[in-house]
Amino acid sequence: NIQPVQALTKYKLVFLGEQGVGKTSLITRFMYDLFDQHYQATIGIDFLSKTLQIDDNTVRLQLWDTAGQERFRSLIPSYIRDSNVGIIVYNVSEEKSFAKIDTWIKDVKDQRGEDVIIFLVGNKTDLEDKRKVETSTAEKKAAEHGVHFIETSAKSGYNVNTLFQRIARAITVVN
Ligand code: GDP
Ligand code: MG
Repeated sequence: NIQPVQALTKYKLVFLGEQGVGKTSLITRFMYDLFDQHYQATIGIDFLSKTLQIDDNTVRLQLWDTAGQERFRSLIPSYIRDSNVGIIVYNVSEEKSFAKIDTWIKDVKDQRGEDVIIFLVGNKTDLEDKRKVETSTAEKKAAEHGVHFIETSAKSGYNVNTLFQRIARAITVVN
């Protein structure tokens, strides 16, 4: 009676992007299926982990949440260096947060090389009436940089599980 061997593999995901785009909220939605309207500033770097089942593989994801405040920025490169995946979040209702995407992608590629897995995430799609960044614009940007792209809402939960499923698949395909 031969049991299939299950690979338990651990991957580090680092969440990046400007302050207030919803990094902590996406993690909270994914981990606990909760959403908090009240803003709670992330202090420095936090980490949580969760396992996902992808086909025959159990994938343990370590989620590293970073803070946008200037005084913590110097910590970020070392977390990027240790990560398998960079998740770069912007707010679809805030042009400024999208304008910073190129810098974040460059930061990740500088640390991890061109072949690193990057997900560009347009969050807060529930604010459709206040949308400033069109889906097609972001899609083009993602294609230019050769990165994955998805839109989410941590508030409604839209595409949050799908994001993590796609990340887990992207990792297991490469490895
Ligand atoms: P972070 O600084 O990137 O970690 O952002 P937070 O997760 O702390 O979220 C900043 C603010 O935006 C908080 O008030 C959240 O409640 C709110 N927020 C986060 N995600 C969403 C979303 O998908 N939709 C809406 N409407 N608000 C969100
Ligand atoms: Mg935060």
